[in-house]
Amino acid sequence: MIYLDHAATTAVHPEVLREMEPYFGELYANPSGVYEFSDDVKEILRRVRQRIADSIGAESEEIYFTSGGTESDNWALIGIAEGMKDEGRHIITSCIEHHAILRTCEYLETRGYEVTYLPVDREGRVSIEELERTIRPDTILISIMSANNEIGTVEPVQEIGALARRNGILFHTDAVQAYLHERIDVRRMGIDLLSASSHKFQGPKGVGFLYVRSGVPLPSFLHGGSQERGRRAGTENVAGIIGMGKAVSIGEREFRKNHEKLRSLQEYLFRRLETEIPFCRINGSRGQRLDGNVNVSFRYLEGESLIILLDMEGICVSAGSACAASEHAVSHVLQGIGLEPEYAAGTIRISLGAENTMEEMEYTVDKIKELVGQLREFSDEYLSVYANGT
Ligand SMILES: *Cc1c(COP(=O)(O)O)cnc(C)c1O
Repeated sequence: MIYLDHAATTAVHPEVLREMEPYFGELYANPSGVYEFSDDVKEILRRVRQRIADSIGAESEEIYFTSGGTESDNWALIGIAEGMKDEGRHIITSCIEHHAILRTCEYLETRGYEVTYLPVDREGRVSIEELERTIRPDTILISIMSANNEIGTVEPVQEIGALARRNGILFHTDAVQAYLHERIDVRRMGIDLLSASSHKFQGPKGVGFLYVRSGVPLPSFLHGGSQERGRRAGTENVAGIIGMGKAVSIGEREFRKNHEKLRSLQEYLFRRLETEIPFCRINGSRGQRLDGNVNVSFRYLEGESLIILLDMEGICVSAGSACAASEHAVSHVLQGIGLEPEYAAGTIRISLGAENTMEEMEYTVDKIKELVGQLREFSDEYLSVYANGT
């Protein structure tokens, strides 16, 4: 099998698995225990919190462990909306956010909040000028993703942070795709809240974190015990958090190596797809892009069919996002960048990981070429264009 869907999830790194294992077994203590048995677990959670804080230039007491990206996004948005409701009820986000943001915004709209969904340009970038024009006296929060999960576009986070700060508005960023792929420094970038998820960077599923700058008025999310300084109650996912901590160490250790490797695999795919397959489009930005993302559209075929045929060859790619695939609708991200429908229908997302090889890329492009040719034989439109051209 060739796995090329790392934006959906990644395999747990063997070192991560090894690190987690004892905490399912003999080291099962509840970190809230007052006896010595709990001290070890308590200490290791403290170290993970510190390591995560260091990785984004934050303080350890600004890191809250959560169940992943979706929870972090929900907490940030719903919490700030509730905590700041006397200051205003207007929120700004973008039209290409993950559904964990968009659906939460829709929920807030039913609760009396107003949301502006900023448009993006052809590359998927929000415009700072447009954002500035959208700010109102009652704007309480800007939430813009650090990098997009479908097309890999990296947003101008630092400029957004500076603008938010100048206007006294809180800034949240969904960094689930960007964390450990792009350098993040929450102080320098003016980020007040940041979401990340462990299973997107070789950690286990069902665990993540939310960074909340000290002083941000974020109410408690889960009510109960005093875990996470009373803001997110419930016994910690100890093994998951420890695994996430190890995955952060590995991600930092291999940052440069992975960056260079993914870049070269990505360049190879771009070059061959564009030069060897007619009516092909690479979506997103060339300069401001995640290393591992290749989002490509082929005219005169259905992306779904291509995905199924690739699957039969043992190659896992996706339609862009898990949600878009199940809804059989054109992705809101491709609509957002204004991609022509005849291209949008034929889109696949290839997302690379550290364990992928150049041989896999060669095989994958060869297969895509072959299958695109086969599928186009079923398109009357393509056949007529082709016939007229020859
Ligand atoms: C995967 C993803 C999420 C959701 O994270 P989970 O941990 O799976 O809940 C949110 N935002 C983005 C950009 C993602 O890619």
